[in-house]
Amino acid sequence: MPSPGEGRGILYVVGCGPGPVEQMTGRAVSAIRGAEYVLGNESYLAPLSSLIEGKKVIRSSMGKEVERARLAVDLARESIVAIISGGDPGVYGMAGIVLEVAERASAPIRIEIIPGVTAATAAASRLGSPLSGDFAIVSLSDLLTPMAAIEKRLSHAFEMGVPVVLYNPRSHGRPHNFSRALEIARRFRSPSTPVGIVKNAFRDGEMVIVTTLGEVHGYEEEVDMHSTVIIGGTETRIGKVGDNATAIITPRGYHTKYIY
Ligand code: SAH
Repeated sequence: MPSPGEGRGILYVVGCGPGPVEQMTGRAVSAIRGAEYVLGNESYLAPLSSLIEGKKVIRSSMGKEVERARLAVDLARESIVAIISGGDPGVYGMAGIVLEVAERASAPIRIEIIPGVTAATAAASRLGSPLSGDFAIVSLSDLLTPMAAIEKRLSHAFEMGVPVVLYNPRSHGRPHNFSRALEIARRFRSPSTPVGIVKNAFRDGEMVIVTTLGEVHGYEEEVDMHSTVIIGGTETRIGKVGDNATAIITPRGYHTKYIY
């Protein structure tokens, strides 16, 4: 573990994966262990209680990302600091804003971004293998991106024919963004297109739903900000595997070259 030395600190931007410690990388765990300060949203810190015991812990709430990034950069001038981000910190997480704040402050600190399992791959693993080849990710949160831009991106993504992963799919304040995304999907995909909904992947209350674009409206109420939705591509299908388990599979193309 590097030491700060000469008054210069270290800031780890740690991706803690979808929830429990066992889904974190070894590097994420060792960085948190070596930190003096740990900052993060309460919901990400709760599963880490055994790792952060005895440290200076600064808990904050959602929506205070800029403040949290500023504080982390300031503390890291003199100390070893870990700022926790859910999933992967570089995917709608804290890495970008931390780098921007540190750049503007010309802070003489070392920053290490530590990757984690992002919601797209966590959810995919619960559904089968829906993202075996190319795919697109679009966030439906219009807090920082105008809805018109999101709709344009959705159209382009669905037009490509690849599976589309929706992050931040449906909040109480903006339940219509999800319905709008489904409307756009229907312009490019048949009603039989597989749709997977994974709520609280790898956390308590996990729920996995496999449905189709034609039937998904029946599950809209289940979709919330703890859910990731995967809408299949033109080649995605629902398979029966093993003990009759349902799996969403997007063939990567091996069947065109090999006999199996
Ligand atoms: N940096 C995070 C994403 C933050 S955006 C990552 O890489 O995973 C927040 C969105 O991520 C949520 O609205 C939801 O769509 C998704 N998400 C995060 N954790 C999840 C989980 N455990 N189960 C399902 N979706 C999750």
